[in-house]
Amino acid sequence: MAYVVDAAGFFAGLQNVLMGKAYTTPEVLSEVKDESSRRALELGLAAGKVVVAEPSKAELQRVARVAKSLGELGRLSTTDLKVLGIAYSLIKKGFKVVVVSDDRSVQNVALKLGAEVMGVKRASLRRPRRYVYVCPACGAVFDKPGICPKCGVAQLKRKKA
Ligand SMILES: [Zn+2]
Repeated sequence: MAYVVDAAGFFAGLQNVLMGKAYTTPEVLSEVKDESSRRALELGLAAGKVVVAEPSKAELQRVARVAKSLGELGRLSTTDLKVLGIAYSLIKKGFKVVVVSDDRSVQNVALKLGAEVMGVKRASLRRPRRYVYVCPACGAVFDKPGICPKCGVAQLKRKKA
């Protein structure tokens, strides 16, 4: 089993208890700044338990398309997309992957990509959900947040599709 871990997992020191390698991105590593988490992380890197990876451009584009289809694209940072890109890249290589994150949008896209998800401090989603953005004035439905082009309303409401 391969794990793809975001910063929340490293703050909790989870890489020490997972029964497999913890993959992550350089951006996540740089978010882990407090001394004890940092030290645990460096031990993990030295032991080969924590592996730094970068998804390809094509993998990132694929993840962005999946995120868009679920209405999640606007809620994911570049780092989130890269974490998901690594998960997708491992899945393509035949790994069983668990994405470790408390971010609901990351979890949602991970499930859709075929990964399992594991929360750090909160329970995780069980199945993917699609969200849409609805204009409260005219009811038009969009797949991302923004301004309604029909009536100019800027506060589209996020709803489960
Ligand atoms: Zn509207």
